[in-house]
Amino acid sequence: MSAVDAAGSAEGGPSGARASDTPALRQYLAAKREHPDCLVLFRLGDFFEIFGDDAVKAAPILGVVLTGRDFGKGGRMPMCGVPHHSLDGYARRLLDAGLKVAVCDQIEAARPGVKLVARRVVRVLTAGTLVEDALLDPGVSRRCAGIFPVAEGVGAAVLDFSTGECQLLLVPTQAGDSALSDDLARLETAEVVAPDGGVGVISDLGQIAQTIRPADRFDHGRGVSILAAAGQSPPPGESAQLVAAALRALGGVVSYGEESFLKLPDALLRPRWRPAGEVMELDAPTRRSLELVEPLTPGGKSLLRLVDRTKTSPGARRLRSWLQAPLTDLGQLTNRQRGVAELVEQGTIRAKVRQALSGCSDLDRLSARCVHGVAGPRDLQHLAATLERIPQLASILAGASSEPLRNAAQGLGRGPIGVSELLLRALVAEPPALARDGGFIRPGFDSELDQINEGSVAARRYISQLEGEERARTGIKALKVGYNRVFGYYLEVRGSSQRALPLEYIRRQTLAGAERYVTAELKEQETVVLSARERALHRELELLAELLGAVSSSAAEIGSVASALAEVDAIQGLAEAGVELGWVLPEIDLSRRLELLEGRHPLVEDVMGPGRFVPNDAVMDGETERIWLITGPNMAGKSTFLRQVALICLLGQVGSLVPCRAARWGLVDRIFTRVGAQDDLAGGRSTFMVEMAEMAEILGQATPRSLLVLDELGRGTSTYDGMSIAQAILEYLHDSPRVAGRVLFSTHYHELTSLERLPALRNYRAEVDEQGGEAPLQVTFLHTIVPGGADRSYGLNVAHLAGIPSPVVERAAEILASLELEHPVAAPELGGQQLSLPLPAAHPVVDELRSLRVDAMTPLEALQKISDWQRSTGDSK
Ligand code: ADP
Ligand code: MG
Repeated sequence: MSAVDAAGSAEGGPSGARASDTPALRQYLAAKREHPDCLVLFRLGDFFEIFGDDAVKAAPILGVVLTGRDFGKGGRMPMCGVPHHSLDGYARRLLDAGLKVAVCDQIEAARPGVKLVARRVVRVLTAGTLVEDALLDPGVSRRCAGIFPVAEGVGAAVLDFSTGECQLLLVPTQAGDSALSDDLARLETAEVVAPDGGVGVISDLGQIAQTIRPADRFDHGRGVSILAAAGQSPPPGESAQLVAAALRALGGVVSYGEESFLKLPDALLRPRWRPAGEVMELDAPTRRSLELVEPLTPGGKSLLRLVDRTKTSPGARRLRSWLQAPLTDLGQLTNRQRGVAELVEQGTIRAKVRQALSGCSDLDRLSARCVHGVAGPRDLQHLAATLERIPQLASILAGASSEPLRNAAQGLGRGPIGVSELLLRALVAEPPALARDGGFIRPGFDSELDQINEGSVAARRYISQLEGEERARTGIKALKVGYNRVFGYYLEVRGSSQRALPLEYIRRQTLAGAERYVTAELKEQETVVLSARERALHRELELLAELLGAVSSSAAEIGSVASALAEVDAIQGLAEAGVELGWVLPEIDLSRRLELLEGRHPLVEDVMGPGRFVPNDAVMDGETERIWLITGPNMAGKSTFLRQVALICLLGQVGSLVPCRAARWGLVDRIFTRVGAQDDLAGGRSTFMVEMAEMAEILGQATPRSLLVLDELGRGTSTYDGMSIAQAILEYLHDSPRVAGRVLFSTHYHELTSLERLPALRNYRAEVDEQGGEAPLQVTFLHTIVPGGADRSYGLNVAHLAGIPSPVVERAAEILASLELEHPVAAPELGGQQLSLPLPAAHPVVDELRSLRVDAMTPLEALQKISDWQRSTGDSK
């Protein structure tokens, strides 16, 4: 039996009726008209049905069969459907496919005798407006940004509807094209709402969904009143125009949430201005190459996964956001470090804190769901149980001496009074997840509900005993009592050899192999039971609404508890990870130095296992010595070293311990990494183009406090171009005071080592051990970074290691030697600021050999290459 038949017969009479006549279809069409940009899921009986073009679009996404149904004059209409109890899973698939979903549900129960149940859209689901547990990842925030562009820049309000937390951003035009994109990425924005034409200000939307709304929905007054209710005022000294734009953005995003049927009272919303200079901006390539929250290769480990030892989802989200926003305010950083240090030292307290946290649910999202009115009975129970645990956690932290832990203890102590007792008194021990299942209010809590239930006890007993009694009375073994929505309770007799039935049996329905009957008394008792059940559910839903109201009116207090809980969890998580991994707490000050002793790459070390990674120092004073030019063959450990320095600085400024024996450095304001740019083929840009565009951004934004990690710059083009660009950039970084940050620069152009004439630049090399004197045949990578430059590329050694047969490699060495004799490679001539192309016209084979990406070749390709060269030099034997 298909869903629509069931529903059709329940509501529209026998299923042969013209569907265009069915009032249910009219309800559907009305819902679709109100939400034209949504796919409407329409509740019919036990299914959510999708009709028309929506059905054609949705069926393959949902993996369900597309059927059709005649709709009278309108012809045949495509249709598909999903069981109502699996709505969440299917909704998620539609959302993942980038669709918006309007859920049109029954708002009253179907019951015998009711022709048409009332339905309306109760929820609109979009990428940025999700609050339902089943639609969200516990440890990942999903925010919706309102943006409002003005002449001076963009005002943005980035709101997490699932918690009420909200960041207000002022992004002036001069912050650069990608500043807004970087902010939106850092804040894990899933959807942007902008006035007409507004989305264009975002340079890279990536996966972010976009929604356009009329400019008048971005109501300035609404923004102002939300801000006032939160006791916040606009930041002083900022452009009035940008502040107004941010408040309009706030009004816009809140009104968009209301379109999705979310309730957003001021008590839920926690707007906060992003203070300038508090957190480090990380651009997209840096976030990616450092694998902060996503690994570069599927199945790999992100930094987050390596260090996450949090016990709760709010804690996991807090840590995740910290990793994406390292601190650049020394006061705040030192403060957070003190909290982490205290829990590192106090192992017993840390263990107790972890124990107390482990039973805590997601207070933030639970309380927001109560406010939105979508929380179920089980949500309330989890909320109550978590609130019950808070005093214990607060008392563990009561004796803490560091400021973040003391603040957290205070925040935990400011929880709502009486909410958890009320909830525990009201709810049964194991309430159902969904309110419409009923039976979640504890007997004795509400006398009205108790009376309703008691009133139907006798009738329920009558029905439950009826089957046995009737079997005994009639002697018919194949008799049973059943229930369905259309006919209510009935007596069913199976089989054909029927004995004489009692006279009072009235036939209602004939099925294949069975007859269904009712009796006058059964119908009477049924009325008592059904109306009691309905009244009881109705009363339970009223009580639920009251309980949600009680939670909502404490939303602000619960919010402060939740925030303290997340903070404690993130801090203890960093302490636990640091201790477990054997890391140290760095000293961070306002100098420019960088002193990492025996640093390790946390992710590479994790893969290799303990004791196998070779630690390296990175020590420079950041003034007289601040550029390291690192040469060395492929596979020697250059890239690993570069990333490890960036990762250590990032971790340290998050407040974490770091993988070093000892570490101290002067506060880093930004970390820029460019590591092995990949071809952006989809974007139609070459590796070199990408590299240069990124480099241009860096040169525009770096400051003397920045850390620049530049790996193999200029590799994406021909040798001479690449080498000249690399050299010119190094000179610029050296000579221009505006960008005079700390720089680690790796290159396989060993000719660049002659740049050591620049006073603040030092040559380092990734050391290899050459054995047996007979180079190029034996080389061992030591993975140590030592002073001095490499004098050659070792390309042939690597070819040998990769399995190229010895005779081939030897022949290549001969060729190379003869080429180098013919065209000696001159050291780059550097005249002041002028860039002079360093090499004389060289042989094309040398040129090609230098630019060869040996690590990207198969042995066979290398072989092929060498044989090509042999042919082209006319030297083939
Ligand atoms: P390069 O950039 O010089 O070509 P990589 O940094 O990519 O070299 O390192 C190549 C491989 O060498 C890495 O994948 C890693 O397995 C290993 N490696 C690098 N550095 C170390 C180290 N310090 N200790 C142990 N192994 C290392
Ligand atoms: Mg490399």
